[in-house]
Amino acid sequence: MQRLLIDARGLVKRYAVGDDPVVALDAVNCRIAEGEMVAIVGSSGSGKSTLMHILGCLDRPDAGTYVLAGEDVSQMTRDRLAEVRNRHIGFVFQSFNLIPRVSALENVELPLLYTGRRDARVRARAALETVGLANRMRHEPNQLSGGQRQRVAIARALVTDPAILLADEPTGNLDSRTGAEILDLFKDLNRQGHTVVLVTHDAAVAGHCRRQIQLLDGRVVEPDRAASQEPPAPGGDAPATRPPPGAAALVILFRAILKVGLKSLIANKLRSFLAMLGIIIGVGAVIAMLALGAGAQKQVLDRFASLGTNLIMVSPAQRGFAGVTTGSRQNLTLDDALAVAREVEGVALVAPGVSTNAQLKYFGKNTRSSVFGTSSTYFALRDIAVERGRIFTEGEVDRMARVAVIGPTAARDTFGESDPVGEVLKINGINFRVVGLTVAKGEGWGSPDDRVIIPYSTAMQQLLGVNYLREIDVQARSEDELPRVQEDVRQLLRKRHRQQPGDEDDFRMTNMDEVRKNASEVTGVFKWLLGGIAAISLLVGGIGIMNIMLVTVTERTREIGIRKAVGAKEGHILLQFLIESVIVSGLGGLIGLGLGVGLARVLPRFVPLQSVVEWRSAFLALAVSAGVGIFFGLYPAWQASRLDPIEALRHE
Ligand code: ADP
Ligand code: MG
Repeated sequence: MQRLLIDARGLVKRYAVGDDPVVALDAVNCRIAEGEMVAIVGSSGSGKSTLMHILGCLDRPDAGTYVLAGEDVSQMTRDRLAEVRNRHIGFVFQSFNLIPRVSALENVELPLLYTGRRDARVRARAALETVGLANRMRHEPNQLSGGQRQRVAIARALVTDPAILLADEPTGNLDSRTGAEILDLFKDLNRQGHTVVLVTHDAAVAGHCRRQIQLLDGRVVEPDRAASQEPPAPGGDAPATRPPPGAAALVILFRAILKVGLKSLIANKLRSFLAMLGIIIGVGAVIAMLALGAGAQKQVLDRFASLGTNLIMVSPAQRGFAGVTTGSRQNLTLDDALAVAREVEGVALVAPGVSTNAQLKYFGKNTRSSVFGTSSTYFALRDIAVERGRIFTEGEVDRMARVAVIGPTAARDTFGESDPVGEVLKINGINFRVVGLTVAKGEGWGSPDDRVIIPYSTAMQQLLGVNYLREIDVQARSEDELPRVQEDVRQLLRKRHRQQPGDEDDFRMTNMDEVRKNASEVTGVFKWLLGGIAAISLLVGGIGIMNIMLVTVTERTREIGIRKAVGAKEGHILLQFLIESVIVSGLGGLIGLGLGVGLARVLPRFVPLQSVVEWRSAFLALAVSAGVGIFFGLYPAWQASRLDPIEALRHE
């Protein structure tokens, strides 16, 4: 006696349409043994398809029990049902239900991919050979005739070597000759040992089967003789469970999913591009903005570096009363500067400074410029080089020589295009010989470009008539020593100025490294602010992707139904649509990366800004775009995965 494969009792299925429910199945019993070829017959609307969907685990009955191959399937989870469909059942539909734009071979492979079998390709070829399509494997569904499509569908049903082949009106869409061929194919398969259940409204087709179950208005009319005669003993050997798929099989599945995703993107080029556009613009904008921000940061840092490193500037405290400044104190002396150089450990260079605004005159030409008196060490300390001529010497400082080193801006204002070196320049009416022209450093705070630098001795005694300094610049030997040097200078000056403990310093100290750090922090904040604003467009791009993916899921509902019918679990469908949205956003991110880097290169030619592409933040933007794909793809993919297989298959 053959094993009982299908044992369904009292199956009820109702559909609620409006207020009155349709009873599609009304207490249907159905028992089918291994190796049988059974026809389920009945006029249209009698409930045949409904019964077949339940027998195929695509749908659940409202009441009744169903034991398939010894397993009660009534209480199974959706994913377990997908597994059961995949292992035990091969479906053949009236409308073929092949996945478009995918070759016959790949259609047949599909059920095996979801089981994670490594020999999918080999088995798919064998199945196609069985149905006589060895020479059409590379054809896509729309390149095949109806009969050939149905053969592909039969091969797909066969490929997992299922316990039962379920065919719902398999000849319904075929001409009578092709229909007969397909019927012969089923009979062959039955002879080879496959159990076949054939749903049809056509008595002639049903006549090819050894046993018939007749349905009328959801009830079995003809007493089911074969089954009632002798219900075969319930199945002895439970189907062996397959080992879990290995890593290699997962790779194959992943590759197949990736391929489908890419194909669907290519099939909808314009739509994919539009979906990508938001991400392209977003990533491009983020990268370009971050590059401009980083450029501004670098510009600030460079400017400070050009002022000199490890630098402390000492200047007199403001004199004032009740918050009103009335000028600077006059308490910083040359002796203070000399004492710092002599007594403080770790000092590399010291330069005193006095400054004033003075009138420059060269022949008929009058200009005003800032004149700075200092020692020759100032040039090294502030990293100022001469382009032509030389700097003045300590000897000239000692002699109170009337020599000047001029900055390029001041030189141009006074001398025009002619060479200033060697010329005589009148500063407030006193003749100075220009001995050097400095290299341009760029305009900005503390820039020497628009200055005339002369010995402090000459400046104090001949030009200004003062005996106090405007500043003392101190350079520490190293960055590490800078804080200690600063403190030592402070203590020394307090002592020299006879300040009492508790008194406020009567001078101000500016640590240029701290100023630089602060400025760098401020520009850093500015940079991320720019990037953050640009990131809003990434968000908009993500919403665009979500929109397109929702459309895609709706469009491909039927495909999702097919995949589920052959055994795709929810996770498989989720992964598939998630991968598609990540491809869109990732590809958009890559193109955006190119755009952003390009913009960062080109923009500085048109606007007075620098840009520095920081690869760290560029890759961050790229990772964010992939994240956007996952985040915004998740909802559509989840919707797709939750689709009811039978609803999805009915989708027009
Ligand atoms: P058959 O395949 O025998 O032609 P079906 O099983 O498809 O018939 O349908 C049986 C009955 O159930 C029909 O009266 C049909 O109108 C009804 N029916 C089928 N599917 C649905 C559905 N999704 N919603 C409402 N009624 C349905
Ligand atoms: Mg039907």
